[in-house]
Amino acid sequence: LIADAGLYTPSDQIIILSPENVDSVLVNSTAALLVEFYATWCGHCVAFSPTWKTLARDIKEWKPAVDLAAIDCADEGNRKVCTNFGITGYPSLKFFPAYSSSEFKGQELKGFPRDTRGLRHYIIDKLETHTEAWPPACPPLETTSEAEVDNFFQTNNVKNLALVFENKDSYVGREVTLDLLQYENIAVRRVLDTEASLVSRFGVTDFPSCYLYSSFGNISRLKVLSEARTFYSYSLQRLPGVVRTGKPQIPITDLIKNSTLQEWRPFNKTRVYMSDLESALHYSLRVELSGHISISGDDLIALKKYINVLAKYFPGRPSVKSALKTVDSWLTQQETEIKYSDFRDVLDNTVQTSDAVLPEGVQWVGCQGSQAHYRGYPCAVWTLFHVLTVQAREMGSSDPQEVLQAMRAYVSSFFGCRPCATHFEGMAQESMNHVTSLSAAVLWLWSRHNRVNNRLAGDLSEDPHFPKIQWPSPELCPSCHGLKRTGEHSWNQEEVMTFLRNYFSSSRILTDYLQ
Ligand code: FAD
Repeated sequence: LIADAGLYTPSDQIIILSPENVDSVLVNSTAALLVEFYATWCGHCVAFSPTWKTLARDIKEWKPAVDLAAIDCADEGNRKVCTNFGITGYPSLKFFPAYSSSEFKGQELKGFPRDTRGLRHYIIDKLETHTEAWPPACPPLETTSEAEVDNFFQTNNVKNLALVFENKDSYVGREVTLDLLQYENIAVRRVLDTEASLVSRFGVTDFPSCYLYSSFGNISRLKVLSEARTFYSYSLQRLPGVVRTGKPQIPITDLIKNSTLQEWRPFNKTRVYMSDLESALHYSLRVELSGHISISGDDLIALKKYINVLAKYFPGRPSVKSALKTVDSWLTQQETEIKYSDFRDVLDNTVQTSDAVLPEGVQWVGCQGSQAHYRGYPCAVWTLFHVLTVQAREMGSSDPQEVLQAMRAYVSSFFGCRPCATHFEGMAQESMNHVTSLSAAVLWLWSRHNRVNNRLAGDLSEDPHFPKIQWPSPELCPSCHGLKRTGEHSWNQEEVMTFLRNYFSSSRILTDYLQ
């Protein structure tokens, strides 16, 4: 399924260079670029590729100012490009400032750091010493002064200024500045601990710490779980009035008045709703599958696996469970090929007795979108499979990969969003086989879902009222979040596991709005 034979695919958020696009990407770009020249056969490149991918996810918000690219020099078609850039060893990194000319061969990064944090700092150093024209989307990274702060709102069209107070060696302020670069109504500047007048005016005692200064002159300290980059950025991106560029937030009440929504069902954003899960069943079994007139081969195997995990682990009403069991036992008897109409007949006629029912129709609740084209089915598919991985763990499935492989097969054979299926299959090929316990299966799905969230944050498909975040947020699960000794964000996986087991547990699923 994955066409690209190199170490990266387009879903890694790394620009894949080729002779066809190299000039349009590197020459006269408004963003600076850092390019990795690698060879697929080189062990060091293979070892470095996860870092490069992690870096791409980590600095995704910086793209308008600085972007990452890669080119596979082992591909014969790319040889000329690599030779032209004077590449003789792998991996090589080259920095291309914004507005580089076609003659420019890039600045080689000798002895570059091999970790995400080191590379991130390196990129900031490079941006700061950018001698040619500054990338227009890149905000100022230098420290600010009392004079600039005093005049800030006269010269900048924003409501809030976030000031990160820190020592001179800290990169937090510059990282947060770049993390916020695609957001409106907020600007970020760093202030050094030596800037005595501002330090005393804001009453700063901790370094780093972040203060908000509003255009009305109010000063408040940003409340965060930990004084670190990820927490500052997350919190600032969610301040009232701060919006992603090009994504104005229409208040939900106005949306309802405009009747873009049929009927808004108030719900608790921190809970799972059975109505979403049953709607997902209806949609997948009666709508999505109906596009397949006959089902055989791998598709039939996929359907059998899917129905089987549903029959075993769907934590539904007794009547729904009983319906799923009936469909499962019918399906196990089918051998090489089924007609969808026969399958449907089982669903609608055999099953619909008083004690076995698969409710019809969709009624999204926790998966409602602020407009009809947002959320709904894909949201419920994720939720369904998270619930199933947790249920399989609680019920002690004998196969750690059972639910994941069923999801993989269903998505690959039937999920209507084909690019989604390709991406998901890419992640499955990469690491699903490493899952060897039921807990690891729960965590695998959680972490891959977060990868998808990272890739889609800010995308057109993102509902502005439900921004894609690294989930669960610090508010939803404070203990899930921690800091490494380096100050990098880390997930406390044991706490995440506890949280997921509770969040997706069958006993917590709400049954409001069920038909
Ligand atoms: P969703 O991402 O659908 O999440 C639903 C709910 O799950 C959230 O509201 C939250 O409560 C919870 N949640 C969020 N993150 C996590 C997590 N890490 N672990 C556990 N629970 C979590 N869209 C594309 O545009 N491109 C794609 O490549 C793509 N691939 C997809 C692959 C699959 C397998 C699926 C099911 C969907 C895919 N989608 C893709 C759709 C996309 O991921 C979202 O489902 C869709 O945009 C709706 O987003 P949402 O805001 O409802 O949140």
